[in-house]
Amino acid sequence: MTQTAEILRAQLLIGGEPRDGGDGATYRIDNPAAGTPLADVSRGSRADVDAAVAAARGALEGAWAKTSPQKRARMLNRLAQLVDEQSDRLAELESRNVGKPKWQALAEIKQAIVDIELFAGTAQHLYGRSFQVNPAILSYTLREPVGVVAAIVPWNYPFMLATWKVAPALAAGCTVVLKPASATPLTAVELGRLALEAGIPAGVLNVVIGPGDEVGEYLVSHPGVDKVTFTGETDTGRRVGALAAQGLKPVSLELGGKSPNIVFADADVDAAINGSLWAIYYSAGQSCEARSRILLADEVYDRFAEGFTRKAAALRIGDPLEDTTQIGSLISRKQAEHVLRYVDIGVSEGGELLTGGAMNGQNGDGGLPEGLDAAAFVRPTVIGGVSNTSRIAQEEIFGPVVTLTRFSDEAEAIRMANDVRYGLAATVWTSDTARGLRMASQIKSGTVGVNHPFAAFPGVPFGGYKDSGYGREQSLESLDLYTQTKAVLVSSSAKPINPFGA
Ligand code: NAD
Repeated sequence: MTQTAEILRAQLLIGGEPRDGGDGATYRIDNPAAGTPLADVSRGSRADVDAAVAAARGALEGAWAKTSPQKRARMLNRLAQLVDEQSDRLAELESRNVGKPKWQALAEIKQAIVDIELFAGTAQHLYGRSFQVNPAILSYTLREPVGVVAAIVPWNYPFMLATWKVAPALAAGCTVVLKPASATPLTAVELGRLALEAGIPAGVLNVVIGPGDEVGEYLVSHPGVDKVTFTGETDTGRRVGALAAQGLKPVSLELGGKSPNIVFADADVDAAINGSLWAIYYSAGQSCEARSRILLADEVYDRFAEGFTRKAAALRIGDPLEDTTQIGSLISRKQAEHVLRYVDIGVSEGGELLTGGAMNGQNGDGGLPEGLDAAAFVRPTVIGGVSNTSRIAQEEIFGPVVTLTRFSDEAEAIRMANDVRYGLAATVWTSDTARGLRMASQIKSGTVGVNHPFAAFPGVPFGGYKDSGYGREQSLESLDLYTQTKAVLVSSSAKPINPFGA
């Protein structure tokens, strides 16, 4: 990436070469918090997808096929080291691109480093099994790379989510065409550049930028792509899954969520309040795993609602580059408008707006400094007295908005937790271990935290039930997504053996 007059320039990366899109088109992205131009980005075309897939195929069958697992591990570890060395710069870039506080972007990049190291370690442990089928036949299995991977990622955690796909794919011996979200291509391009610097051969990791409905769809449908891995909205995932199915390509989908955060009367309510704040307001609520529905036992409703609302209202909104900022901007004004529409819906459905909403359009309102675009910020919002069947409790908002809903007993809490089309994550706050375990087994979601508000940890499988998708990332399970099993049968008998004989 180059910097001219404060405006960055981002290009595609194909076969190890930075380049403009084939037709030379560019588009401009803004720093959403400031509302100022951030970068001019090359816009890829179908021809660029063709070139990237060809480069990935060439590397898959060429340099990368000749690279031992030990070398792959070493290169991935080197990549982790380079990311670490550049983490401050990458975090600033991510923060300026997404609007999230820089310290959060840094924490995500630090987690991405551990993810890359985790998968570097697995490259040398892609074991098969052996089985003596009968006295004459030995079978063994090989875990072979699935091939060229199309990896499509969203805008909320651009760098970290890219590594969740790229690191296990490369560890398994696959090659990748990575397509970042159009709004947030900057750190994906940096990941590609650092991979080259780490010695990963040209063509192993390619980055193509372009609109999802054109470049994304073309990539998913490309006959040269063997596997599709996608993170994004549920409706987009459904479309991606259908396109991949036409080519009989394996696909993994990490999709949306509407995750419950359940507080029982026996919980440590102060701990639950503190944990629940970050479970929704981290990254201004633009997290797939955001615990956006707080379900409260009748007995604790008032106490929790009062304490939570007071603390939500006191969160510091401001310049994402300041260390003290807790809530940055949303990804765009458009996203802020979308979120505020949901606040209106919640109120029209009978919910009570306890705190939050728009910045009232004024810099300085709620402490927002000059130079920031108030229209891209939404204050941490709490809506009380919400029915679990209302739209605001059922639809993913993807912003700093949480609903409070009462329940009367454990059975009702389980019913409400599961009465939603998503199933990504859940948290249960209770001092009763047996209750925690019962809830964990009854809730239909990929992750359940007991007295713990977050799901994403390196090594812990991350993924969804129901409309939150399928496939598990950030863990050893990911290797299943990027390998296929070959069975080899070796006979020591001179005569053919009848497999159906005794
Ligand atoms: P999105 O679905 O609009 O876009 C995601 C990516 O898909 C982008 O790169 C986009 O360009 C591309 N895309 C869009 N249409 C496409 C198409 N027809 N074919 C192929 N690619 C296409 O999602 P978003 O708005 O960028 O991200 C927010 C969504 O992502 C939320 O729903 C959130 O819950 C989800 N998400 C899920 C997880 C998870 O792990 N489950 C993690 C982060 C975000």
